[in-house]
Amino acid sequence: PMLNFPDKVVDGIRILQYLLGAEECLIGIEDNKPEAILAMRQALRNQDTAEVVRIPTHYPSGGEKQLIRILTGKEVPSAGLPAQLGIICHNVGTAAAIADAVLTGRPLISRLVTTTGEGVAQPCNLEVLIGTPAGELIEQAGGYTDAASGLIYGGPMMGFRLSTDQIPITKGGNCLLLPSVAESPPPESARACIRCSRCADVCPVQLLPQQMYWYARAKELEKAQDYNLFDCIECGCCSHVCPSHIPLVHYFRYAKTESWEQEEERRRSEHAKMRHDFRLARMQRMEAERKARLRKKKEDLAKKPAKGKAAAKDPKKAAIEAAQKRVAAKKAANKNSQKNTDHLQPAQQAQIDAAEQRRQQAEPVEEAPPASGGIENDPELQEIFKQETSSHFAT
Ligand code: SF4
Ligand code: SF4
Repeated sequence: PMLNFPDKVVDGIRILQYLLGAEECLIGIEDNKPEAILAMRQALRNQDTAEVVRIPTHYPSGGEKQLIRILTGKEVPSAGLPAQLGIICHNVGTAAAIADAVLTGRPLISRLVTTTGEGVAQPCNLEVLIGTPAGELIEQAGGYTDAASGLIYGGPMMGFRLSTDQIPITKGGNCLLLPSVAESPPPESARACIRCSRCADVCPVQLLPQQMYWYARAKELEKAQDYNLFDCIECGCCSHVCPSHIPLVHYFRYAKTESWEQEEERRRSEHAKMRHDFRLARMQRMEAERKARLRKKKEDLAKKPAKGKAAAKDPKKAAIEAAQKRVAAKKAANKNSQKNTDHLQPAQQAQIDAAEQRRQQAEPVEEAPPASGGIENDPELQEIFKQETSSHFAT
């Protein structure tokens, strides 16, 4: 983009500066790209808040943390972000895409991809839609040559070998490399580490690759992380210089992926446990609420009859109970008392019988009917009445 669309890159830089409130913008360009430096300086001639800085061509100076250190002298802390230092680092492709999105409304649907190596007939830069198969780019670049020994997606140091060209170009893809055998000889078989420390000498992040390799190989991932595994930028320098041809970066990628998976698994199980605990608490709360409702219902039921007992009670039942109580009381009172009908003479008994007969023939005394129903319709009440009256006459 710097050579072909420098103005678009500058527009993107201005938008970014406005959005981020950035006071200063440094554009680092390696000193082996003089045309790009010239094009960008010309595009920036009216800008005083952005400046092109020529940096030494030294792999991997394009890495985010390395570039920040070269341009500002500041070191991004381990496991930290540049934003913690008040710095945001973007590449020029992102700046051009931002200008497209903001100024023309065109979303990020294409990438500039370099198709190069002795294995392709006409190496070139192609702007292709994201999702285009790698094979179509190679076709556009004149197709395969007899020297092609493989296909690498990405740069020579950090790229991935592809087993087929029917792989789509993704948003992060920037290079398709078709090297010859001379450019990328097949990897030799790995031998044991001889502790030469060459890997540590070349590491741009000052890590100890041999230690990380040791623990990654033993699947002791936590110990590998103790050696700042996640600060590794996978630049491949250590693998490149290793005299034992140990594919160190592969071990580090494996250890990182495995650590992420373990972390994800731990996070998932924590989430599941949290959901289980929450469900348990919810069930307990619902059970407690149900019991409280039942208890309240019982209490309400227990209170209701006590409150309106007299009013709520069936008047017929009340009359029966009262009569039964009176009968029982009278029976109890009469039990031990001497009756004047004991030891009657036959004549006296005859007199009583005659009186009883007269009483039965006499008009019944009209009594006030109970609140609901009458004694004449209720055999139970009549029986009680009979008992009560016979008991009365017996005394
Ligand atoms: S460069 Fe290779 S052999 Fe030497 S210490 Fe590192 S891993 Fe071991
Ligand atoms: S790939 Fe090797 S050299 Fe590069 S950062 Fe990681 S450990 Fe260091």
